[in-house]
Amino acid sequence: MNAADEKTIVKNYFNATGFDRWRRIYGDGDVNKVQLDIRKGHQQTIETVIDWLKADGNLAGLSICDAGCGVGSLSIPLAQMGATVYGSDISEKMVGEAYRRAQEVLGANGSASFTAQDLESLGGRYHTVTCLDVLIHYPEDKMPEMISHLASLAESRLILSFAPKTLALTVLKKIGDFFPGPSKATRAYQHREADVIAILEKNGFSIARDGMTSTSFYYSRLLEAVR
Ligand code: SAM
Repeated sequence: MNAADEKTIVKNYFNATGFDRWRRIYGDGDVNKVQLDIRKGHQQTIETVIDWLKADGNLAGLSICDAGCGVGSLSIPLAQMGATVYGSDISEKMVGEAYRRAQEVLGANGSASFTAQDLESLGGRYHTVTCLDVLIHYPEDKMPEMISHLASLAESRLILSFAPKTLALTVLKKIGDFFPGPSKATRAYQHREADVIAILEKNGFSIARDGMTSTSFYYSRLLEAVR
């Protein structure tokens, strides 16, 4: 399958069954045990990033591009803390939900905008670019191009998370494998940390902080790269 077809599958998934599933996981309503485990793991990843950015003490007015923002799980709290957040996602449904949640939480306070745009077509310059749990949709051969593009948008910092390629995890072949039920439509790609770091370094970045979240069904390696 070529990359364009695969991207269309991902987009369609996150506009349909994937939207319903992830909106629930990234919410606070009832979910099954596996989804609850993933919700907790994801929240931990989000909290780690928030703690890092808070610790720096310069969030007010900081421009942040949240690429593949989903329902705004990171964008919204960052806007609440004073950052100027530009969230975008390939799925119209996901950004629609992000916008709705932002209105609910932020009202007239806080600056967050949400656009339906795939990250390959993003332009502009931002102090910080974040891209959490999106690389799982990218095969290895697309990684250099995609990370380099995100790096070109980042003046100072790029924060990425990805499913690490380790022996224990290579059994997970499809995103659907994380869940019981139908719709196992999209593939999940894991990445070697050394490969990701090499691409970041080639783009003039070095690793400043790192983190790892692992629960029973959620694994995410987090890297903060700075210029
Ligand atoms: N970053 C969010 C978070 O951590 O809450 C959402 C993570 S969710 C697992 C993955 C998101 O990536 C989905 O909302 C999906 O639509 C989006 N996505 C996948 N491929 C994308 C692309 N090429 N450009 C922009 N968004 C993409």
